[in-house]
Amino acid sequence: MSVYKFESDTLLDIVEHVDSNTLFIFDIDHTLIEPVQIIGSTHWERHLAKKLKEQGFTHHEACIRAFHQWRTIQHLTAVKAVEESVYEILTLVKNLNVQTLGLTARDGTLSELTFDQLKSVQLDKLFTHKEDCKDLPGNYPCKYTKGAIFCGFNKKDVGLQLFLEHVKMNPKKVVFVDDQKSHIDELEDLSNLLGIEYVGMTYHASGDHKFDPQIAEIQEQYLPKLISDKEALDLLEA
Ligand SMILES: [Mg+2]
Repeated sequence: MSVYKFESDTLLDIVEHVDSNTLFIFDIDHTLIEPVQIIGSTHWERHLAKKLKEQGFTHHEACIRAFHQWRTIQHLTAVKAVEESVYEILTLVKNLNVQTLGLTARDGTLSELTFDQLKSVQLDKLFTHKEDCKDLPGNYPCKYTKGAIFCGFNKKDVGLQLFLEHVKMNPKKVVFVDDQKSHIDELEDLSNLLGIEYVGMTYHASGDHKFDPQIAEIQEQYLPKLISDKEALDLLEA
């Protein structure tokens, strides 16, 4: 079965791989949307977890604490589209009548907030699947709603497989874009298992290179007010 994986910093590079037989799947955080400032990003969450481990928390404790801080910021922050070309993708999806899905590591309790965030940048209509909202039977809570699978602690291949079984769908081809290579690899495994043609793109438009711990730490000091990266930089340089 054909597998093609590559890396790019623009969504436009995935377009040539999409045809009307494709199930086109998008990660959400740092693929479609991201916070308008550094604090609240996944990169910041990982930075927090690292700091907490240095303070003596176990890996698990540090990750849980960092996750809860990340989650708190999601309720406060505005988001932006990671790349303007996502709107060209939206047009392509409509014109080709392609089936699309969201596939996120967010858990189902964040689904309403996630769609509010997507709506704020006119991306809430990107996912075309309209099956009823459903709790999928994973080892951990897994929810499908409004065209997106909220995997929570389940791996993304597990979340997608549960969904495909739920809707009894056998796609010929899956095209997946995610900013984390580990997730691209997970869906490769599933595609091999199910005999699906697969194209996976690791997407680097929003990378660790944009993370600045000094800016993040100034923004942390101002919570619950969220100050911009520019305001934090001005304070840093004052
Ligand atoms: Mg992501």
